[in-house]
Amino acid sequence: MAKIFCIANQKGGVGKTTTTVNLAAGLAKVGQRVLMIDLDPQGNATMGSGVDKRKLELTIYDVLLESASVAEARLKSDKLVEGGCSYDILGANRELAGAEVELVDVERRERRLKQALNAVDQEYDFILIDCPPSLSMLTLNGLCCAHGVIVPMQCEYFALEGLTDLVNTIKQVHANLNKDLAIIGLLRVMFDPRITLQQQVSEQLKTHFGSKVFNTVIPRNVRLAEAPSYGVPGVVFDPSSKGAQAFVAFAQEMVERIESL
Ligand code: ATP
Ligand code: MG
Repeated sequence: MAKIFCIANQKGGVGKTTTTVNLAAGLAKVGQRVLMIDLDPQGNATMGSGVDKRKLELTIYDVLLESASVAEARLKSDKLVEGGCSYDILGANRELAGAEVELVDVERRERRLKQALNAVDQEYDFILIDCPPSLSMLTLNGLCCAHGVIVPMQCEYFALEGLTDLVNTIKQVHANLNKDLAIIGLLRVMFDPRITLQQQVSEQLKTHFGSKVFNTVIPRNVRLAEAPSYGVPGVVFDPSSKGAQAFVAFAQEMVERIESL
């Protein structure tokens, strides 16, 4: 049975999508079977995996509205296959923004994704869900089916403040909707060790959250930022870059963590 993880942080632009696609590629590289779900109407994880969101026939939107199954809507990307780090993709585009409204009157609407994944979870080791920068119905659907949340964060002053809201939401979902849910870990991303404040916040994180802070640190690395314009994760775009190596190390850390879960 697959382990399902949401990559979530309601703060925008903190590195959720970069983490999702590179972790997916890193896991594929170390031999894991991975499904990557784009749960953000921006469709960045879809594009960043080499799938053109404008040309999608079926997306996560159809799955949430039960007009398609995951097996029907998922895709493979030629670019990922060529790069030797292939994972399956359940894509999204702006159509997904309408799902929130269309599901308003539906019973158990927060469990749509969970139900849909039951049919495929034997086929994967990992299912990774890229969440939008909000604590919306879409994010809730992700949290309802996940075993854990991976929280990417930049080591900046306001990062800790935003974390309180996320931790509270996760506690509520845990109490009311999904007993399996836990924060698997906080991932320090876009890290620049030359900046004293970042080192200080990093130390604070370790003091407050202890072993919940992943050992792997993702450095600020321009190759990771360049990769999406080529429609591939950094792990595929430039495997020898510091950023790519960090994500492969993170994939290995995740494999070890789930063995001890
Ligand atoms: P949103 O909230 O809009 O979904 P996000 O949290 O998914 O954003 P990303 O899109 O992953 O964030 O990253 C924001 C920007 O930072 C992107 O331009 C990305 O390329 C860049 N970026 C992410 N991680 C790194 C890194 N380690 N080094 C350099 N640039 C990075
Ligand atoms: Mg994103």
